[in-house]
Amino acid sequence: MKKIWNLECKNLIGKTVELYGFVENIRDHGKIVFLDLRDRSGIVQIVVDQSFKNFHQIKQIKPENVIKVIGEVQERSPHLINPNLPTGRIEVKVKELFVLSKAESLPFDISTDGYEIDEAIRLKYRYLDLRRKRLQKNLINRHKFLLFIRNYLTARGFIEVETPILTKSTPEGARDYVVPSRIYKGKFYALPQSPQQYKQLLMVSGIERYFQIARCLRDEDPRGDRQPEFTQIDIEMSYVEREDVLNLIEEMFIEAVETLYPNKKITQKPFPRLTYEEAIRIYGSDKPDLRKNPDDPNELAFAFVIDFPMFEWKETEKRWDAVHHPFTQPKLPDGRKDKEELLEFLDKNPELLLSEQYDFVCNGYEIGGGSIRTTDPDILVKVFEVMGNNKEEIFKKFGHLINAFKYGVPPHGGIAPGVDRIMMILENEPNIREVIAFPKTGEGRDLMMDSPSELSEEQLKELGLKVENENK
Ligand code: ASP
Repeated sequence: MKKIWNLECKNLIGKTVELYGFVENIRDHGKIVFLDLRDRSGIVQIVVDQSFKNFHQIKQIKPENVIKVIGEVQERSPHLINPNLPTGRIEVKVKELFVLSKAESLPFDISTDGYEIDEAIRLKYRYLDLRRKRLQKNLINRHKFLLFIRNYLTARGFIEVETPILTKSTPEGARDYVVPSRIYKGKFYALPQSPQQYKQLLMVSGIERYFQIARCLRDEDPRGDRQPEFTQIDIEMSYVEREDVLNLIEEMFIEAVETLYPNKKITQKPFPRLTYEEAIRIYGSDKPDLRKNPDDPNELAFAFVIDFPMFEWKETEKRWDAVHHPFTQPKLPDGRKDKEELLEFLDKNPELLLSEQYDFVCNGYEIGGGSIRTTDPDILVKVFEVMGNNKEEIFKKFGHLINAFKYGVPPHGGIAPGVDRIMMILENEPNIREVIAFPKTGEGRDLMMDSPSELSEEQLKELGLKVENENK
């Protein structure tokens, strides 16, 4: 690669360099013209004077044109030093300059933080919005955070395993997005609400420590700060108890914050563990905001909420539903482990059962959840029955998991912190769209690609589908 970063110029005084980037702005002083050249690393000042053979050509250059510059790095004279710019002590004197691409004027200003601009326009031209420094910083810091997590987990024996996107319904409490099969007309794949069943099956495979920076897709009713797809740090571990999972997450987050966000202060270490009952009784919420000073943008109050109830009554469907998901291990109210008693409670008093679920919260947001799982097929089947499924349905939907558990299954548990929320909090952003490269609107639309969109008649025919009640 011939291109060097603009920022590198400051150490190359006297050298000829080849630079590429966008023209941020132009200051034309008649006989001398200054261009600010922007690349991802920052800005460097380009000087063009009349000694340049194509001086008149410079006058054609417009902001946001993409250019190539060959020039010599020189020190600025002392009164021209800009102390606010990392490259403020140097400039690059042009020897050759090429316009690689012209630019029309942009639909909005990209030099500001952008909060003042109508979000619909920002999202329609997201590729331009992302030229904004704040959003570039968010993407770079998201990358650094995920890289930290990948390295942290890898150093502790975890491996990242990809799991399918075309799969079958897995209940995480939302509706599935479905994909029609062309080859098997009338049959559908479901997009994963999470890799939950796959990661548990990987424990049956003996992988022991799994993680994945995983995309999850849930067809929920649009709500401002929800996205139809979001990213989780999905983790599953064999031979662990609750505290093993919580300690891993606690240490990983403390180290990530202290390394990447040294200005942030963690309110309490180790993170407090509250039971669900305590959280509700004392704070009136299962995701309490434990900050000492909620006005301080640099305070992070992490906590774990444990001992959730196993089931909640769904009045609309007149049935019990799992508070977390059905794979979570139910627990007797007094914490004892007795299979016969557990089966009896499942039969007669499901509302009294607690579970091995834990939630991870920060500053009043739920930023993750997980549990120790049920590995006993009898209990798993019973849980599905409590939730209103008959035996036939259970084996149709979950036979693979129940069968898998018959071939030797290590005790296991896991968790899945959500990346978008965490990045939103770490970057002090008002919503998760600011930390996602190409988000949907709060109403679930992609204004740039214009999706969702119609299929052609041919596509529908090929899939054996007919659209009723098209709402445009
Ligand atoms: N699959 C769960 C979720 O998405 C997380 C877990 O139980 O590990 O919330």
